[in-house]
Amino acid sequence: MNNCTVLHQVKKFSSNFIFSGNSAPIANGVLVTDDHGRVLDLLENDDGLEDVLHIDGFLCPGFVNSHCHLELSHLFGKLPKKQGLVNFLKPIIEIRGASEETVQSAMIEADNAMLREGIVAVGDICNEPASFNVKAKSDIRYYNFVEVIGTDPAGAEERYNIGEKIYEQSSKFGLPCSIVPHAPYTISPELLARIDSLSANRDLPVCFHNQESDDERELFENRSGAFVDFYMERGLDIGFFNPNSKSSLSWMADNLSSSPRPMAVHNTYTTTNDIEMALEHNPNMYWCFCPNANLYIENRTPDFHLFTDFDDRITIGTDSLASNTQLSILDEIKTIARIDSSINLGTLIKWATINGAKYLGMSDDLGSFEVGSKPGVNLISSLSGGTGQLTQESKVKKLA
Ligand SMILES: [Zn+2]
Repeated sequence: MNNCTVLHQVKKFSSNFIFSGNSAPIANGVLVTDDHGRVLDLLENDDGLEDVLHIDGFLCPGFVNSHCHLELSHLFGKLPKKQGLVNFLKPIIEIRGASEETVQSAMIEADNAMLREGIVAVGDICNEPASFNVKAKSDIRYYNFVEVIGTDPAGAEERYNIGEKIYEQSSKFGLPCSIVPHAPYTISPELLARIDSLSANRDLPVCFHNQESDDERELFENRSGAFVDFYMERGLDIGFFNPNSKSSLSWMADNLSSSPRPMAVHNTYTTTNDIEMALEHNPNMYWCFCPNANLYIENRTPDFHLFTDFDDRITIGTDSLASNTQLSILDEIKTIARIDSSINLGTLIKWATINGAKYLGMSDDLGSFEVGSKPGVNLISSLSGGTGQLTQESKVKKLA
């Protein structure tokens, strides 16, 4: 052995089940890693092995949080619950301002909390570069979605340029990045065209908030409802707003038809018809669920079953601490399991791991126990005695 040789200790974990993220669960399997958490092997059993650590619960790769807003972490507990989206958005605009110190320390705390919850990657919305420093230093891998807003077609160029400057700053911090629209009700087709071509030319994922409230349908179908009042109260002219579409989702899919990975986030009011129309415009759609934020804001969750045909393209997000009590992917899938017990555990783990990693372009290293990858190792314990399913008491411990 020379001085350059590094000795890596091998760790062998065994649990009731191992969910590898991309293959069937293995009962009493063994996950072999080096001491940095790099996967060396995934075995069917512990025959002939020594020093295997047997743990009660199940193992899965580190979680991927596909939708968050780290820069809103200081708004924890400040916004009204169950009052609907428009009533949620009104105060957010007014109270967003806080001291730099408050904003930064809340982000550091939220980042640490996500790490403790076994989250290894986050797709994070940014309206400004405030979070970049925290993210560059974090053990979590971040993907920045620089969000642009602009309903006036005449201002599209200017709004895009602002987004592009933040995009360039993200690259300087070494953080991968896309420019994305906020939602169909805050963007012009002209601005969307710029986003769509950037996404297509550079093979970047995009995302947008979709059908989080029924007012969005009202606006697109009838040009009426709470969003119209919201614009008028702020003196915004929506004279040019003429989507000429049955659904905000299909309008977005049409305007993002070249994007290789557009993702609709929330989908609380989405119908089968909406999904079918959207897929006609762009068959590559991903779907992100953030059920705890939906319960916080609208006290309603999506009809998860409408999406189960697109099992490989469903991801999980936490949204921000402005609309959630914690940033925990485990807590999100516990909520889905509670609401719809027919969705099996392996499917939920897939949504929470490999699908998000693929969407963010990080599946080479994250999302599965593929040999050679370093996806993080989560132990989930406190399962139901008989079936090994998630319970409301289930918790996560990060083993690597
Ligand atoms: Zn959001």
